Amino acid sequence: MNAPVLVINCGSSSIKYALIDSDPKAPRLAGLAERLDSSDARLQGSNSRGESFQQPLSGADHAQALQAIFARLEERSPAAIGHRVVHGGEHFTQAALIDKNVIDTIETTATLAPLHNPANLAGIAATRALFPDLPQVAVFDTAFHQTLPPQAYRYALPEALYTQHGIRRYGFHGTSHAFVSQRAGDISERGAGGWLVAHLGNGCSTSAVWQNQSLDTSMGLTPLEGVAMGTRSGDVDPGLHAHLHRQLGWSLDDIDRVLNKQSGLYGLSGLTNDMREIETAADGEHAGARLAFDVFCYRVAKSLAALSCALPTLDGVLFTGGIGENSSQVRKRVIHLLPHFGLALDNDRNAITRGGREDRIDAGSGPEVWVIPTDEEGRIAAETRHCLETRA
Ligand code: ADP
Repeated sequence: MNAPVLVINCGSSSIKYALIDSDPKAPRLAGLAERLDSSDARLQGSNSRGESFQQPLSGADHAQALQAIFARLEERSPAAIGHRVVHGGEHFTQAALIDKNVIDTIETTATLAPLHNPANLAGIAATRALFPDLPQVAVFDTAFHQTLPPQAYRYALPEALYTQHGIRRYGFHGTSHAFVSQRAGDISERGAGGWLVAHLGNGCSTSAVWQNQSLDTSMGLTPLEGVAMGTRSGDVDPGLHAHLHRQLGWSLDDIDRVLNKQSGLYGLSGLTNDMREIETAADGEHAGARLAFDVFCYRVAKSLAALSCALPTLDGVLFTGGIGENSSQVRKRVIHLLPHFGLALDNDRNAITRGGREDRIDAGSGPEVWVIPTDEEGRIAAETRHCLETRA
């Protein structure tokens, strides 16, 4: 299948898109429709010459935004559409061609991802109505982590919560962990060995990948578990909820909002969820920003150390995501906290690696350390193609 694949990532008020050729080096048409269903809805993106555009879409809903996106594809009709779907539960271990059955199954997992799956489903419904003849594929954030063994995915809770209600660890950011670890296997002489992956963006997660299989990961039932993030707390004492409710009278919605939207870098610094601003403020002796930086890096290092238990051998650490790809300071601190694994950086290489550059940045003696820019859209397009080709 040589014609391009249109990748759609539909949120509650936004749609990210990218038109991706079978040649991964070909230029991409990509953009974002945001603030949908409001008067300042707009579409912005880039064309095939790399020029950016902005288009007001006042009051547009998802279907109208999709039509505007299609009008921007410059006659390059897609052969298929690949949809990012956040939660596939235990039903999907790989991408699935969308039909009524698949939609019904995604609906049954919506209770596990009430913030995300309904928006993903709305995008699928709108796209199917507009383009009924195009094959559409669902690519799940959770699918790559379906290889976790029970000792990694089960919580130490009564069995019925798992068997009757699906309460277990699922993991997220699967397309990124899959892409980055596979890429490491391709470019490192060590091949598809044992890799610890740190995907550090606004959302952050870590994983342990052995022979291209995810064996453990930091996120769990929801994307709130694990390391500290931009505005998410990551791990807290499970007793915290009862404590906040009993002592402060907080409702579940209050607690959910604080842990998801007001914690992490933002909550600790009292300033921002943006790592660039945290680093600048920490350099300027801002105590909250320093603490946020320290906690963030310590939690990432601690998570990687814990995940190493899943790997028979440790071949290296892979950094990706906006922070992982760009922040030499975060990488330096995280690796500095893991000397027992023989990890050490080439500080000069680390300092200059940013801005989408792929590079090996370790000192050469122990496990490798790589910066590998993630490509979630590219991976979704590749999985969409694979799904359609293997079905044919
Ligand atoms: P998302 O998870 O929304 O896709 P990204 O992967 O783009 O987010 O990551 C966003 C994060 O990357 C922000 O915290 C931002 O500050 C950080 N970041 C981007 N560039 C730099 C940089 N040069 N130095 C430090 N942090 C950076």
